Amino acid sequence: MTTFAGRETAAPTAASFIELDERWSTHNYHPLPVVLAEGSGASVTDVEGRSYLDFLSGYSALNFGHRHPDLIAAAVAQLGRVTLTSRAFHHDQLGLFCRELAALTGTELVLPMNSGAEAVESAVKLARKWAHRVKGVPDGTAEIIVAGSNFHGRTTTIVSFSTDETARADFGPFTPGFVTVKYGDAAALRDAINPRTAAVLLEPVQGEAGVIVPPEGYFADVRQACDSHGVLLIADEIQSGLARTGTVLALDHEGVRADVYTLGKALGGGILPVSAVVGRRDVLGVLKPGEHGSTFGGNPLACAVGRAVVKLLKTGEFQQRSAELGAHLHTRLTALIGHGLSEVRGRGLWAGIDIAPGGPEGRAASEALAARGVLCKETHERTLRVAPPLVITREELDRGIDAIAEVIRP
Ligand SMILES: *Cc1c(COP(=O)(O)O)cnc(C)c1O
Repeated sequence: MTTFAGRETAAPTAASFIELDERWSTHNYHPLPVVLAEGSGASVTDVEGRSYLDFLSGYSALNFGHRHPDLIAAAVAQLGRVTLTSRAFHHDQLGLFCRELAALTGTELVLPMNSGAEAVESAVKLARKWAHRVKGVPDGTAEIIVAGSNFHGRTTTIVSFSTDETARADFGPFTPGFVTVKYGDAAALRDAINPRTAAVLLEPVQGEAGVIVPPEGYFADVRQACDSHGVLLIADEIQSGLARTGTVLALDHEGVRADVYTLGKALGGGILPVSAVVGRRDVLGVLKPGEHGSTFGGNPLACAVGRAVVKLLKTGEFQQRSAELGAHLHTRLTALIGHGLSEVRGRGLWAGIDIAPGGPEGRAASEALAARGVLCKETHERTLRVAPPLVITREELDRGIDAIAEVIRP
């Protein structure tokens, strides 16, 4: 390994930072043994000066790459004005951010929050209040239908409807009011609807589950079931949205509109956590002052960065890059089926790839990729998730795919 400017002793090594992390930070992650210090575009550099292609993009929080100049400029400009006011007062960025985000997503009202989990929690509260006050479901009995293998975040209520035992074990008692059906099975979902059903909460593409794309026509059927029973469709687009699949919203591919969307990750431009619930005025409009809120939600810095994100998405450039580079990615990965891969799924510049039996496990493949200068992360034992920043060049993308082809070879 290289050392800083040839100094053998002074520069701290990756190992020393890993040791610090392991000594002082809660061990709720199992990161690859890489210590990053800088990032630009699709590349990151570690503390020892080694550079890598980022093929994970912070789980789509870095759709625009590391430190996109327009986003950094917007953040720096706002840092020089005002960063936090609390929602006790108006400020000059909130209304503009909400208007621009509503226009981009074709929605009517915006509830700004911070993390993705908070946006999902907010959507759950909205759906329940809407059911009790508008639909006429008896108070305290509203149900929400979710899908198996979902990922919506880590709060107590959200893990209450997770089917991942690792995410749930020991964290009960759980929040009631959720019904789980198989993802992709519209008939099962229709059967689960009853007069107490407030909403159906689904990911348009299940990211954490391994980039699972539902069967053709699934969401059209779900939409119809929701319409015929007065049930809200909530699409969790926190990972799938904001150009990752080649469209502003992944549900756009299905020709279906949700009543409510949750957005997060890329909405903060890779700079700070920004999330939002967006949707129908008659649904988001059920909230009255004091009923819900957040100290940091909708702060001026978040809104300024969010506005810059919306501005980038308005050009359509990133959606187009995802569609074009994604087609190339999927063509090349599909060609590896039978040469180390057993299955390739996904949409746009986003793929879940299953390593065939005989090849390495996901973790070993991630480590081998890191050694070749490509950062990827396994999800489940034999699945890798490929999600490079949408600013990646075709040459960089090919370099990463070449490395994948080498490490998954049986
Ligand atoms: C990441 C994610 C969340 C949770 O977002 P956090 O910011 O980590 O709380 C929720 N839903 C989906 C689909 C996600 O991918």
